[in-house]
Amino acid sequence: MRIAPSTQRVLMAARLIALARLATAALAGGPLYAYDYANRIPYAWTMSSWPSGQVPIYTDLGSLGILTNAQADGLVANAASQWSSVPTSSFRATVAGDFSAIGLGDVNSSNIASVIGTFNGGGIHVVYDNDGSILSDYFGVPPTAVLGITDIEWVATMHPEVLEAWMVLSGPGVRSDDPGGIGFAGVVTHEMGHALNLAHTQANGAALPSNLPRSSSTDRLRSALDRWAGRHAGGDDVPVHHP
Ligand SMILES: [Zn+2]
Repeated sequence: MRIAPSTQRVLMAARLIALARLATAALAGGPLYAYDYANRIPYAWTMSSWPSGQVPIYTDLGSLGILTNAQADGLVANAASQWSSVPTSSFRATVAGDFSAIGLGDVNSSNIASVIGTFNGGGIHVVYDNDGSILSDYFGVPPTAVLGITDIEWVATMHPEVLEAWMVLSGPGVRSDDPGGIGFAGVVTHEMGHALNLAHTQANGAALPSNLPRSSSTDRLRSALDRWAGRHAGGDDVPVHHP
């Protein structure tokens, strides 16, 4: 975690939140990030900080595997609608535009640093990893096994407010027998839940999927998750894959 030089925000340490396969009954099990552990205060989005009281979502240009840009945008809008309709939650989000609206181009593995590690004015930034190269080359995970990664990246320093999150969705993760993205819609909704600072329930197990091949990169991922889980032993949850 570090403090950005010019503004009151903090870059969260990188944590990988990935989904191994289509989630079944993904029950949220608490927050991913706590502002004040002792008093159990999690980070959360503040609706009044945003235009029309809605967290702005910005979407990538280009396609998402076999899905067109418009289809992918539709899945994101659907996920935003679902999370904005939870009766017990004040969270509201809307797709405010695509990356061109915030000065970004089509994001791929060569310019992913324009989203990850860069503050882009706040909100949720959804990257379509069309060819899977961001997942394979930047994160070192297989894009047909890890369907999405989401992280809350920027938060306020003096109060528990989330400012910016990013989501990377796997193009190769959209199956050829899912041309309408009906199945993948669940992945998008699941990943957006992480952008809301929701973790998995521990009932899903603190383990990477067994079908992830062993490699130095997946070993690094396992090691990172193990360290995180160890640090947070006794906490609400661990951000891990579904078994
Ligand atoms: Zn997840």
